[in-house]
Amino acid sequence: MTEGRPTFPIEPWSLTEIGLDHSTLGVHESVFALANGHIGMRGSFDEGEPVVVPGTYLNGFYEERPLPYAERGYGYPEQGQTVVNVTDGKLIRLLVKDSPLDLNYGEILDHRRTLDLRAGVLRRSTEWRSPGGRCVRVTSTRLVSLARRSIAAIEYQVEVLDDLGDLYVALQSDLLANETSHGDSDDPRAAAALDNPLQSEFSVGRGRRAVLVHRTARSRLRMAAGMDHDVDVPDTSTEDILANGDLARYTLAARIPPGGSLKLVKYLAYGWSSRRSGAALRDQVEAALATAKLAGFERLLREQRELLDQHWDEADVEIEGDDELQQAVRVGMFHVLQAGLRAERQPIPAKGLTGPGYDGHTFWDTETYVLPVLTYTAPEAARDALRWRHSILELARERARVLGLRGAVFPWRTIRGEETSGYWPAGTAAFHINADIADAVVRYYNATMDEDFDRDFGAELLIETARLWASLGHFDDEHGFRIDGVTGPDEYTAVVDNNVFTNLMAQRNLREGARAVARQPDVARRLGLADEEVEVWLRAAALMAVPYDTQHGVHMQSDGFTHHEEWDFARTPADHYPLLLHYPYFELYRKQVVKQADLVMALHLRGDAFTLEEKIANFAYYEARTTRDSSLSASEQGVVAAETGHLDLAYDYWAEAALTDLQNLHHNSGHGLHIASLAGGWTVAVAGFGGLRDHEGELTFAPRLPSRLTKLRFRVVFRGRKLVVSVTPTQATYRLDTGEPLEIRHHGRLVLVDHADLVLDIPPALQVDPVSQPKGCEPRRRTRPGTPPLEHRTLD
Ligand code: BGC
Repeated sequence: MTEGRPTFPIEPWSLTEIGLDHSTLGVHESVFALANGHIGMRGSFDEGEPVVVPGTYLNGFYEERPLPYAERGYGYPEQGQTVVNVTDGKLIRLLVKDSPLDLNYGEILDHRRTLDLRAGVLRRSTEWRSPGGRCVRVTSTRLVSLARRSIAAIEYQVEVLDDLGDLYVALQSDLLANETSHGDSDDPRAAAALDNPLQSEFSVGRGRRAVLVHRTARSRLRMAAGMDHDVDVPDTSTEDILANGDLARYTLAARIPPGGSLKLVKYLAYGWSSRRSGAALRDQVEAALATAKLAGFERLLREQRELLDQHWDEADVEIEGDDELQQAVRVGMFHVLQAGLRAERQPIPAKGLTGPGYDGHTFWDTETYVLPVLTYTAPEAARDALRWRHSILELARERARVLGLRGAVFPWRTIRGEETSGYWPAGTAAFHINADIADAVVRYYNATMDEDFDRDFGAELLIETARLWASLGHFDDEHGFRIDGVTGPDEYTAVVDNNVFTNLMAQRNLREGARAVARQPDVARRLGLADEEVEVWLRAAALMAVPYDTQHGVHMQSDGFTHHEEWDFARTPADHYPLLLHYPYFELYRKQVVKQADLVMALHLRGDAFTLEEKIANFAYYEARTTRDSSLSASEQGVVAAETGHLDLAYDYWAEAALTDLQNLHHNSGHGLHIASLAGGWTVAVAGFGGLRDHEGELTFAPRLPSRLTKLRFRVVFRGRKLVVSVTPTQATYRLDTGEPLEIRHHGRLVLVDHADLVLDIPPALQVDPVSQPKGCEPRRRTRPGTPPLEHRTLD
């Protein structure tokens, strides 16, 4: 897949493509994807061509495939799971006299598409002269409903622009299963190709409505896609419906007079199930279609707008001083919302529902990157994602049994809940995911005080993960409680002893497990928990090994790390990044080279376990050895850079995280968006420059702006309140929009915030020595001191 670097005009609330650029088509399909967490549609053209990856996805709908191994080992996962490109309902083909509208042919007179972040729609307008010389304007508005989970809709209009007499046009509005994908690639990170994954069960077409029901061969999942139409046509028109196997088609032919137009509204409904019959699924989508059609397109638009108005009111991040970043952060937050809002009892994949990358799998990205954003901006979505984790707890217990461990071992990557990572050193061994889940449970609970969740789901997750750590680690006379042979976040260092991030997250997990037992004794009893278990957890937490190198005065990412040979960055060619595509893992594993924030991530998430001096020294040490070959790194380095006094560096990382997909910085955005990195756009703003931390459930802030910004404003939803924080270079203002007064900390000082502005001074920035990155790994966007700020609007 050739993928260029897109450029978008800077706008505060939208993202616009002007003209057609084949080199960025795939990336545009990803950034213009619409989703609601249940249905995802890539931003491919209504007419279906030109296209790179046409993608339509239903969250949780996958096909199995055998995982190939040259050599098998005990406990290796046998089956892989791959997201399926389901029946495509986006297609509306247009025939202008005798030429199909295809932007590869004829002449594009004007073309633009806009993703509108407040309306939640993708608008398109194309003026086109057909090879036969007829001129039309095609406008469409596409929506995947955030309010109605199973519904999407497209309004499609054709206007005749010339005066060459009546124009005959035909519209073919399709449901198409098993469409060919053009986007396969050799990149191991891309999806495994699936050939014709859908087997037709039956199809029905009547009037303007059709439904196709399909089933996968191996995973035995069933899905139904349905469409119905409203039309507004000139006098002379005919229509027809067919539904047959993999294709359902509604055809509308019309004669349009010069200056006239034709409008079609296509309603789409999707459903899938592992248990329900084809007839039941058909009925379900037909019923959803009937109510959507009754509501009408305008109503769907209104509902979408209202929902997003409320969301932005509770979640917006406003930036004064950098309009490009403002746009990128909002686009990122929009995609995070789309990925999670209506996922309900399904996972949130690393790419959301925007592409086939990573086979559609969910990783720790969800709990560690996406859920902090959702917890503080759309807490119900965070709760639902954690309920999905709870729903796969039985599989996680089974995995623990297979591995000879206690409690639960959640999969490193999965769709349905089983471990599907075929490479155990960077899969099964990444046990930290269990503590990451526990951390997200604790954060959600502390931010909402949702007792029902705690009783029914949260406590059980905390207890079963605490049990895992007690059985995975062991007490050692010299070092305390050790956790050996695991892989931390840095995938260039695998199967190590006492990874500090893992150990500190496990320590929190063990303590929070004990708290959950005290809060929910009934749950503990049901799980057969013995008092001695909790004692062991607390002792393990108290004695947790945290390796430190006294010679270098820094923590070791894991035992011995700081004694490994240094990576020769000076001799690493610029085009050899990401290193995993150019060097064998054994070489990466034995050297001091870091793929992504690991120890640095511990400085953020377990910041309560380090002094400021330790943070400053550790950040400088690991900064010089981190390649950021994973898009998960920039935002975490940004957060810790801000805390340790490198505000302008933090600002550079902020831009890198937020612009990851808009600038295609990892050259693979065409396979789907990097949702964790986009979530990082919020995180650097709120946890980096706002300094938000939530250790032990206490909300603390330590705001400080980088030199280029004049103001930053963000909101946080916390225990039923909405807190608005505005930061200028010298002062921070806190105000509650709703709810009872709230105690927070501002740079360590305890203060009470209520409905009046609380204005507090910001202490002077820390004075620290500059840090450096490996040659070739500097932040992708550099702020040069002294350059004037980018053109920008001011906040009121
Ligand atoms: C990163 C993982 C991440 C995965 C999915 C990998 O490149 O190293 O930390 O979970 O991508 O985003």
